[in-house]
Order: sequence, then C-alpha cells, then structure tokens
Amino acid sequence: MDFNELGLSPAVLRAVQDVGYKEPTPIQREAIPVVLTGRDVLGCAQTGTGKTASFTLPMIDMLSQGRSRARMPRSLILEPTRELATQVSDNFEKYGKHTKLSMALLIGGESMDEQMRVLNRGVDVLIATPGRLLDLYDRGKILLNDVKVLVIDEADRMLDMGFIPDVERIVGLLPPSRQTLFFSATMPPEIRRLADAFLTNPKEITVAPPASPALTVAQALAVVPDEDKREALRRLIRAENVKNALIFCNRKKDVDILHKSLSKHGFSAAALHGDMPQAKRTETLDAFRHDQVRLLVASDVAARGLDIAFLSHVFNFDVPINAEDYVHRIGRTGRAGREGRAFMLAAPEDGPAVAAIEKLIGKPIPRVEVDGMESLELDMSGRRRRRSRAQPREDERKSRGADRKPAEKRRRREPQPKEEPRIETAAPAEAPAPVQAQAPRPSRAEPQRDNRRRKDEGDDKAVVGLGDHVPAFLMRTYKVPARKAEAVEN
Ligand code: AMP
Repeated sequence: MDFNELGLSPAVLRAVQDVGYKEPTPIQREAIPVVLTGRDVLGCAQTGTGKTASFTLPMIDMLSQGRSRARMPRSLILEPTRELATQVSDNFEKYGKHTKLSMALLIGGESMDEQMRVLNRGVDVLIATPGRLLDLYDRGKILLNDVKVLVIDEADRMLDMGFIPDVERIVGLLPPSRQTLFFSATMPPEIRRLADAFLTNPKEITVAPPASPALTVAQALAVVPDEDKREALRRLIRAENVKNALIFCNRKKDVDILHKSLSKHGFSAAALHGDMPQAKRTETLDAFRHDQVRLLVASDVAARGLDIAFLSHVFNFDVPINAEDYVHRIGRTGRAGREGRAFMLAAPEDGPAVAAIEKLIGKPIPRVEVDGMESLELDMSGRRRRRSRAQPREDERKSRGADRKPAEKRRRREPQPKEEPRIETAAPAEAPAPVQAQAPRPSRAEPQRDNRRRKDEGDDKAVVGLGDHVPAFLMRTYKVPARKAEAVEN
C-alpha cells in the first residue's frame, strides 16, 4: 500500500516524501484513514512501529481547516515524559512543514513565560505532560473547552508513572464532543477501563501482539554475580561492535554510579534520569543523538519511547522490575526494521524476574557467556541476596571514598583478559540455547556461591556448630607455658 491511498492531503504527502518514507507502517495503514473520518481510535502499538505519524499526519490535515484562538488550543496531545513530548513536537514540525499549523510544547523544566507567550498567540496543537498542563490550567492561563482532538499517548506508561488521576482530571475538563485517540503498548485491565471511559465506539487497532519485541532485535542474557555486572558490561561493550547504546538501570542512583564507573574506565558515557534539570537532559540527549557520546546510561522514565535513529545496542544492566519494561527497553533498538542487539545482565537471584519476562515474550532469552567470567545459573527460589549497607558495590564504596581495601581485593579477583574478549551469542532467530532455569546445571562457581548464599540469607540445611569446616587453628594442639599452667590450675 502507498501513502497516496490513505486520504492524506498533497501537503502532508509531500512532507512524508521529503522524510523519505516509502510505504506506511501497519499502524499507519490502519489508523490514518480511520482518524481522518473523525472516529475514536484505541491503538495497541509499541513505540518503534511508526505510531506517532499514525496520529500526527491525519491531525495536520484535520486541523488545517479553522483557526485557533488565544489560550484555547484546538487539539491536545498528552505524553508521559518531556522527551516524548519533544519528540512528538519534532514530528509535527517535520510533517507539518508545508502547512501553517501553530504548536506549543508545555513541559516541566522549561520557561513557563515563553510557553505562555506562545499559548496567548493561539495554538492548533498543544503537546503537554499532564503536570505542567494542570499547573497552567490552575493558574487560569489556558482553557481547554475548544479541544476537538485529544491524543493520549503511552497510556500504560502514564499508569506506571502515577499520572492517571491527572489524565482523568484533564479529560474531565475537555468538551465531551471530541475525537479521542488512545495509544498504549500494553492493555492491562486498568488501561482497558480508562479506554472504555474515554472513548466512544473506538476502532481498535492492534499492530503487534502486546509486549512482543521487534523481530529484528537479537536478544541475549548473561547470568553473572551481582558484584561482577559492571565488569561483565565493560567486556560486552568491548566485544560487541557498539556504535551507540542505551544502558538501563532500575534506579536513578545506579544510573549515576554506572555512568561514573564507565567514564572512569575510559568509555564515552553520559547519564539521563528524571532528577536531572531539564536543560541538562536536553543537552545530554542532543549529545547522544549527534554521536558526541556513545553510551547513555538511563532510567526507564527518562528513556521511555526515545527515538534514536540507528541505535545499535541496548544493555539491561538490571533486570527490569516490570516485565513489560523489558520490551520497551529493547524496543529502543531494532527500530523501523533495522537490526539491533539487546543484552541483559542478571544476577542469579533475578531468576523469577527473568522468568516473568520470558513468559511475557513467550520464549526463552538465549544465554550467553561473557568470556573470561564466571557464568551462573538463575536461582528460581525468589530469595534475594540482600546487599546490606555494609556491603556496597565497588563504585558506591569508592564514591563514598571509604574502605579502599576491599575494592582493591575485588580488583585482584577480577579476571584480567590478555586479549579482546569473545562473546558467544546465539541469534534469537536460531534455536536459542535451552534454558534450564529450574534445574541448574553445575557451573564452575557454584560451590563458592552456595556457601555465600547460606551465610547471607540462611539455607534449608541448618549448619550445626562450625559445620564441616572447623578452622585449622582450633584443631592445633597448644602447649601451655609453665607459669600459665600454674595459674590455670589455681
Ligand atoms: P514511532 O513508533 O512513532 O516512535 O516511530 C519509530 C521510527 O519509525 C521513527 O524514527 C520514525 O521516523 C520512523 N517511521 C515512521 N513511519 C515510518 C515509515 N512509514 N517508514 C519508515 N520509517 C518510519
């Protein structure tokens, strides 16, 4: 099918041609003609499928008729993060360049004065994050009763981020006679309930089964001791032909720690997370997009939906807590049919989280060994080995500037490769290595690992007294000196 067959105007078609798209993606094929008729849409599509153009292209045509009034936007697009909002506004600029639509971007962290000046001139398209929009609404700076088209994008992420009450309030401020386009990568029951509440007789469009990663992403999983994950990551990066990579951590704190660690080891790296000032986030992303930085260590929220052309790799430094996040994370690569590679590092205790991901994606993730490093089996018991305050990770210790000795000791234990490491990876298209999560095969590191677990978290087998290992000094015969012997006798 050709873009010409979708009912778009010559001005929009020209812009699409300028961008170089040859044919519409499945979501564009299905959604664009429906949106143009004014019907509501419930789109189940993940980022990377071309869903942004599936609503921006027809909206440009629909809004080309009519005029905007001061402080009364004619359409509203809600995005969960500033980065996504910025990306959508870039799309409008790109596709709307042969039309005269006005647009405003309302996101936190940017000057409110400037945003209000644009709003006062009247805008056709308002792209906003829920918090900043309500902030301006509550100050009486914006009126929402002229909104004719509402887009709720990445609804499941809005849910994860706790924005649903804000979204519900915003929807309550809009006129009921409007067109609503609702997109979500997954459709859990809460999202379905919202869709039922917000949409009228929507056309449901599902372009890929929910939570199925792009087929062009080769996936792999390495199971290593938690404290060796940074070393494993460095080896993977060196062994892979990494052009540019997103590296995901579960916690903002770990984003900073890993960023510092990679930089210290000479990698070109930057950090991106929600606690950073907006100006810094924008600057960091620009540097990454323009290949001035090769590795971007990020949290889920900051990196959600980022569209970075030709991203060669995604590394999950941590196994994501929500299985769906795995699909979103690795979906940053392998976009628009290109090839991408996604590695995940797991500690044995991440077994249940890995199993949840494999259940969601419907197949095992091929295991790989990081050359020169001990490779472990996943522990499916669900017990977590607690990393107490007294046992910080190597870089945490260093950043606190304390306790140099254990760090040095660890470094000595780390295997030092003489040559460039080799990674055995299995392409996911081929039969992946069998996963034996329930029945671990013996591995080099197991005896040591077992002992450590028993000490840290208690085991089923109770150890009586000193167990099998009575320290040698206790077994040694001790000759009591004569004077002491007397004292003992008295
Ligand atoms: P999205 O899912 O909207 O984040 O889009 C993912 C990527 O696909 C973006 O880089 C778009 O520029 C690109 N894209 C969108 N539509 C098409 C198309 N019809 N052909 C090729 N690439 C496209």
